[in-house]
Amino acid sequence: MKTTTSTNPLSKLYCNTFGHKYEVSKKVTLHVKEYTCKCCKRQLTTNSNGHLTDLTPMFQEINSILERIYTNRMLRVKRQSEAPTKIYHLRKIA
Ligand SMILES: [Zn+2]
Repeated sequence: MKTTTSTNPLSKLYCNTFGHKYEVSKKVTLHVKEYTCKCCKRQLTTNSNGHLTDLTPMFQEINSILERIYTNRMLRVKRQSEAPTKIYHLRKIA
């Protein structure tokens, strides 16, 4: 995924003067999120130290792996919590 570079110089000037207007563009895990500046489209992400850093291709790769692990874990937790009720129903039938 390539970041678009079609930003107008005025919005960059605005960001340099007033600061970026970041909003969450993607939730990777509970603690890791990706942010995009509404003005200049600059992208940030949370690194392993919990600090914000530029969303480089390396971090995009890390985030996609993190997201996959996180989603898989959430699915497993969900299945585990559903399991006891299924056993209960089976016992009821038997
Ligand atoms: Zn900005």
